[in-house]
Amino acid sequence: MSKSQEWIDRGLTHVAATYGRYPLVADCGDGCWLLDVDGKRYLDFLAGVAVNNLGHCHPKVVKAIQEQAGKLLHCSNFYHIPQQIELAELLCTHSFGDRVFFCNSGVEANEAAIKLARKYSYENHGKERNEVITAVASFHGRTLAGISATGQDKVKEGFAPMLPGFKHVPFGDFEAMRAAVGPNTCAIMLEPVQGEGGVNIPPAGYLQSIRELCDENNLLLIFDEVQVGCGRTGSLFAYQQEGVEPDIMTLAKALAGGPPIGAMISREKHAGALGPGTHGSTFGGNPLLASAALAAMKVYLEDGVLENCRKTGDYLRAKLEELQEKYDFVVEVRGRGLIIGMELNIAGGEMVKTALERGLLINCTVDKVLRFVPPLIIDTDEIDQMIEILEGIFAEYQEKK
Ligand SMILES: *Cc1c(COP(=O)(O)O)cnc(C)c1O
Repeated sequence: MSKSQEWIDRGLTHVAATYGRYPLVADCGDGCWLLDVDGKRYLDFLAGVAVNNLGHCHPKVVKAIQEQAGKLLHCSNFYHIPQQIELAELLCTHSFGDRVFFCNSGVEANEAAIKLARKYSYENHGKERNEVITAVASFHGRTLAGISATGQDKVKEGFAPMLPGFKHVPFGDFEAMRAAVGPNTCAIMLEPVQGEGGVNIPPAGYLQSIRELCDENNLLLIFDEVQVGCGRTGSLFAYQQEGVEPDIMTLAKALAGGPPIGAMISREKHAGALGPGTHGSTFGGNPLLASAALAAMKVYLEDGVLENCRKTGDYLRAKLEELQEKYDFVVEVRGRGLIIGMELNIAGGEMVKTALERGLLINCTVDKVLRFVPPLIIDTDEIDQMIEILEGIFAEYQEKK
């Protein structure tokens, strides 16, 4: 029996069965490649779901972790933490924000954002004003507030009652949003590009109109950039491409290039609503994770990563569009930078399995959208290898039809 199979069998017994896992047992990573315990190499166009934006084991991130690990692993937020301070400074220097709350995941960052929006509105606009409007097909995480905010029924089933105070409107439909805003609305929360919902790009001017709607009604605009922040779309943050600034932005996934950290960035005007004792996290922004994120952020900013993302993103998109021309089951290719969705008119799950067998990691969201989110350090040669495998699968599928 292979080493992989032994682990897979053992994994069935004591690990919670919350994921439908593919038969890959991860061992180590190198750049855009993931290796399993039997030594098989996989070209990684999933990147830990847009986490390994710097590839696997980026040397500068690894070095920062190694150095910090020998110095101080954890320290309570009762005290001041230099690495956390530096990281907050860096995030604010390069964004609209003034203050950063650190946590450990995307959903926690969103939770903090929702709490801040509610608390600010409670203090400034009255106790009744606590409703947050989000988009249909959005994804905001898996806690009870996260699934309440998420605009997809499938994540809510069996977990009722949801947290009150959320409304969902179709993504990209400004009139629907305007109609949904009421006297109790305190915030609008959107992904600037929807990730899990199928790589959905908003129509031109939509986010700008939402910004104006928020200003007219004194609403906080929250951008969930957990998936599309940290260089993914070709700018450090996705909102920068539209020139529309939010009041709160949430980050996680790729912020430290692998290790778990989340951040909720806000403006001075609102941040004070979460004063001492109102919110917290034991691990949030601890020395180990903050030093990893600091190292990762410097790489995003200094090592040509964003430029490479834009360049290779265009290349990948053009290659996928060539496939679209050739194969009539491809409906649309859409994306920004290196988050690209390829919508099919057939289910994509089997193709993902075949790709895995052939050493390629991709993913399929909402049944029919193949999603490509490789590390931002990918090169055109690796893209060509990916396309070759994908085209092989497409050609076989076409024949079978
Ligand atoms: C992944 C994701 C989350 C949840 O992040 P976790 O770290 O899994 O809690 C929230 N919002 C968006 C847009 C995401 O892609």
